[in-house]
Amino acid sequence: MSDRPADSSAEVRQRIDVPARKGRFARLRRGQAIRVIDSEGGQVGDLFAFSVEQTDEHLSANHTRAIVNRLFPQVGEAFYTNRRRPILSFERDDSPGLHDMLIAACDPERYRLLGVTGEHDSCAVNCRDAVAEAGHSVPEWVPQPVNLFMIIPVDVAGNLTWEPTVTQPGDSVTLRAMMDCLIVVSACPQDIVPINNLNPTGLRMEVLAPH
Ligand SMILES: [Zn+2]
Repeated sequence: MSDRPADSSAEVRQRIDVPARKGRFARLRRGQAIRVIDSEGGQVGDLFAFSVEQTDEHLSANHTRAIVNRLFPQVGEAFYTNRRRPILSFERDDSPGLHDMLIAACDPERYRLLGVTGEHDSCAVNCRDAVAEAGHSVPEWVPQPVNLFMIIPVDVAGNLTWEPTVTQPGDSVTLRAMMDCLIVVSACPQDIVPINNLNPTGLRMEVLAPH
């Protein structure tokens, strides 16, 4: 649990609301930071980051795990791309500090396997839509995201469990760009597995002024 108050001294340049079940993008120059805030608490955010030069270079959770030798992220480390270059640094964590780097973004197939017969929003489609709206080429397969605020404990036998997130309203993480990048955050619409406490809500992004 972080005992530090959120850094209120950083000037907010741009606020982007991410509606419940939807995704939004933000552009970051190298050196700029972004805060991702769980506005109401209890909500997972799927974080994607793409090089603005070519979106086929992107934050890769599996490449990051191989470099940091950890399953889950922590402050002071970087996130790496599929070309093994650092793309974001994890600068502050004003949340309980639990985030996942194991689980693929939810997609329409995932909801079909869970028994959904009609339309259902998904982080994969939200990501593709946000990249397209930003005017970049859309990846056919979205990268495995960093699942902010998501709790996936692993036991010694390697079993995973899907726990409801425990974030409080206003909890946040702050990330700093290590290259010019396009950030996409999806407010995960998962409402069958209880990671969002069965009540998907919205998130907020705040792009901070350089310091
Ligand atoms: Zn999702």
